[in-house]
Amino acid sequence: MKNKRVLIISAPSGAGKSTVVKHLLAKYDFLEFSVSATSRAPRGEETDGKDYYFLSKDEFEKKIKAGEFVEYEEVYSGFYYGTLKSEVEKIWKKGNVILFDIDVMGGINLKKLYGESALSVFIRPPSTNELRNRLVKRGTDSPDAIERRVAKAEHELTYEGEFDVVLVNDILENCLAQAEKLIKNNLQ
Ligand code: ADP
Ligand code: 5GP
Repeated sequence: MKNKRVLIISAPSGAGKSTVVKHLLAKYDFLEFSVSATSRAPRGEETDGKDYYFLSKDEFEKKIKAGEFVEYEEVYSGFYYGTLKSEVEKIWKKGNVILFDIDVMGGINLKKLYGESALSVFIRPPSTNELRNRLVKRGTDSPDAIERRVAKAEHELTYEGEFDVVLVNDILENCLAQAEKLIKNNLQ
């Protein structure tokens, strides 16, 4: 089906999800990033309402109880991440296509929810070793955190079959070109 209203992009951490998402948002005006809510603290330059809606654990749990989330998850132990119903409605009201940057389990859940209206894309690194190299080079995580992310990635890679499309992010330019083709064939 053409004219899908939802684009879901999921990947193990370090595979290049943010790089692909940033490229697509800069290129296509009709794509709008879904700002998630999280109970983790802001990092670096992150701003409330732009990168995430930063909530306390208590505020997050109140919103769960009030049924305000389309989906939510404890992605890393102790920290919630979730998509607010109000965010989805705001984007659709403008006639834009929602771009979700979401972890693998969240991506699978959203695809189940939106079905044929959604295109779900899994970004796969060329190898686990290369994934580790990218995380080391990125320099945002401690060696311990990197090993945790790599171990999680090995599990997440077993779910790629649940997605509509798998893009291998080996040579970045090729991956971006393939992503653009997907947009042309499914969303425009
Ligand atoms: P994610 O959002 O999936 O955690 P990022 O987009 O932050 O991943 O990418 C992880 C690191 O790898 C970043 O430093 C990014 O610049 C780099 N990177 C992304 N794609 C490639 C690629 N194809 N080849 C080499 N490095 C890449
Ligand atoms: P980070 O803390 O590095 O910003 O994000 C950690 C992980 O949480 C990433 O894999 C990101 O895609 C995921 N994430 C961000 N927002 C959501 C959301 O709304 N729901 C779920 N399930 N995962 C999310």
